[in-house]
Amino acid sequence: MQSGKIGVTTENIFPIIKKFLYSDHEIFLRELISNAVDATQKLKALASAGDFKGEPGDLTIRVAVDKKKKTIKVTDSGIGMTEQELDKYLNQIAFSSANEFLDKYKEQANNIIGHFGLGFYSSFMVSDKVEVITRSWEEGAKPVKWTCDGSPEYSIEEAERESRGTDVILHIDKDSKEFLEESRIEQLLKKYCKFLPVEIAFGKEKEWKDGKYIDIGKDKIINNTKPAWTLKPADLKEEDYQKFYRELYPAGEEPLFNIHLNVDYPFKLTGILYFPKIKSNIEIQKNKIQLYSNQVFVTDSVEGIVPEFLTLLHGVLDSPDIPLNVSRSYLQSDSNVKKISAHITKKVADRLNEIFKKNREEFEKKWDSLKLFIDYGMITEEKFYEKASKFALLKNTDDKFFTYEEYENLIKEKQTDKNKIIVYLYSTNKTDQYAYIDKAKNKGYNVLNLDGQLDVHLINHLETKFKESRFVRVDSDVIDKLIQKEEVKESKLSDEQKEDLKSVFNVKVKAKEIYNVVFETLDENDAPVLITQSEFMRRMKDMSQIGGGMNFYGELPDSYNLVVNPNHKLILEIYDDLKAGKGEKLNENGTERKRVKEEIDFMEKEHKKKKEEEISQLEKDDLEKLRKELSDIENVRREILESYGSGNKVVKQIIDLALLANNMLKGEELSTFVKRSVDLL
Ligand code: ADP
Repeated sequence: MQSGKIGVTTENIFPIIKKFLYSDHEIFLRELISNAVDATQKLKALASAGDFKGEPGDLTIRVAVDKKKKTIKVTDSGIGMTEQELDKYLNQIAFSSANEFLDKYKEQANNIIGHFGLGFYSSFMVSDKVEVITRSWEEGAKPVKWTCDGSPEYSIEEAERESRGTDVILHIDKDSKEFLEESRIEQLLKKYCKFLPVEIAFGKEKEWKDGKYIDIGKDKIINNTKPAWTLKPADLKEEDYQKFYRELYPAGEEPLFNIHLNVDYPFKLTGILYFPKIKSNIEIQKNKIQLYSNQVFVTDSVEGIVPEFLTLLHGVLDSPDIPLNVSRSYLQSDSNVKKISAHITKKVADRLNEIFKKNREEFEKKWDSLKLFIDYGMITEEKFYEKASKFALLKNTDDKFFTYEEYENLIKEKQTDKNKIIVYLYSTNKTDQYAYIDKAKNKGYNVLNLDGQLDVHLINHLETKFKESRFVRVDSDVIDKLIQKEEVKESKLSDEQKEDLKSVFNVKVKAKEIYNVVFETLDENDAPVLITQSEFMRRMKDMSQIGGGMNFYGELPDSYNLVVNPNHKLILEIYDDLKAGKGEKLNENGTERKRVKEEIDFMEKEHKKKKEEEISQLEKDDLEKLRKELSDIENVRREILESYGSGNKVVKQIIDLALLANNMLKGEELSTFVKRSVDLL
């Protein structure tokens, strides 16, 4: 029997191992099984090279829990170790690499995603004693046993083992009892070992017979040794991809399509990515991709490793080239990781393009479920935009699809305004904005349907991309103002007459800070009154709502324009009625106003001829008096107009009709409107 002190200097590695990586103690099992897999793969390699001439036999790796003895045993039939190897690998190399690992990553324990490198010694996170009984594949090798109780002291002695391979026996410490539950071990095996390349047996298959489960003497294999991503795409059918998807996400909805990745150079990467159907709520869809390293599960949080929009995909990535034992911030700057990200982005875009080219009809059918993903990618990844802008679609309010280029060509001629800007009209709700869409269509314009979760962002993005273009929602102004052309329409009311009517309408608009009365020269067939909301304000508010950092706008009340059409018969009638009832008073007031205004004008002109110090105080006071007089006259005029307005049912009625058309007339106001309508009839 040999005994000694494990090499290297640190006396207290075990307490550190035990304390550290507290939340991740469970990875010990992954480390031990990875070692067992490696040893088995090495044996297979020796056999195929002809160095190992015996019978490989059953290579299944076995995991067993003995609750009474408080042990977990991992057994393999791999290459095993000779006494010298045991000493070299476990006492020196494994120890020093574990030591080095701890030294390096102590500070950032929480950031570590995979903990590869801690290796064999991670078993001390859960055990107070570890035994390794091993027998090398080499001819005449003697079985040996290594024991270590968690202090730096170890012993190596002769042991019993019939055949080649290794048993690692962990004596679970009292703080780690959870690992003596079979259900816990099964859960860990399912998590980390589901796709390992060597069969792993845990427990026995049971069958339902005569009213109870009975052991049928067959090992229960917990893993699929040949998961789809490790096979050649040519050997796989559509069903195989679907079946594998089920294996990964038993409860998931069927994906739209998939990409099989297979890269050898300049890095190694395999995997299958699935495009899920994403209709809303992108946040909860994220982070379903599982990352593997040589079929060993590492993490299902790929954020920071792949571009954000790709975290919406499902599936598996497997790369031994992604450095796993480092922090996330390091990963983000790692050049291999960057290359891998760029590669995946390109592949995803190429695949989408291929589907688009091959079967556009199919692509259009799937568009609604794909749109969020593609838009997200275009907004956040320039490289993806470059490719995706060739196949990304725009849907109009008639549910027709166009590529960006097709759509531009479609609207260019009619929807270019007098400043040579192409105006993209859009709606965010076909039902609510029906009247405006209809107006636009009657003018021969086309209206897009942009009601998706990310469309506000997409619009902003496309405005920076499309040359000389602007997006406006159909209800953000009267149609002739949304796309302004050279021709000017004549108004049937003068500016002064409009000014008077403005006061008449103002009195009927309850909250003046919300509704701003403006006159727009529209066609006589257009509505007498319309409600619009400025594109800018609405967009800012929308952005603040989805967290675009525009909080200031979010707190402002909604504000609308109440657009009055001075060419509409009803408005002209109101004006005539106003003249009939209050004409005399208004004329009187008007004459007064004119006189005072002329006097003010005259005096102001006189004052301009002089230097400031030449104007006497008397003259200044006179002007001030006149101004005050004018303001009084104007107040009187406003009172006349408002008193007319408040007695006029038609004014209120047409304002309410405009609100009703926008779905903005509710509650008490709506019921008053209905009553008033009956009265008017
Ligand atoms: P790593 O696996 O990263 O090399 P470990 O600390 O896990 O580091 O293991 C150290 C070494 O011990 C391995 O490289 C291997 O040579 C040897 N070893 C560990 N477990 C086994 C095993 N089950 N069978 C054969 N050799 C093993």
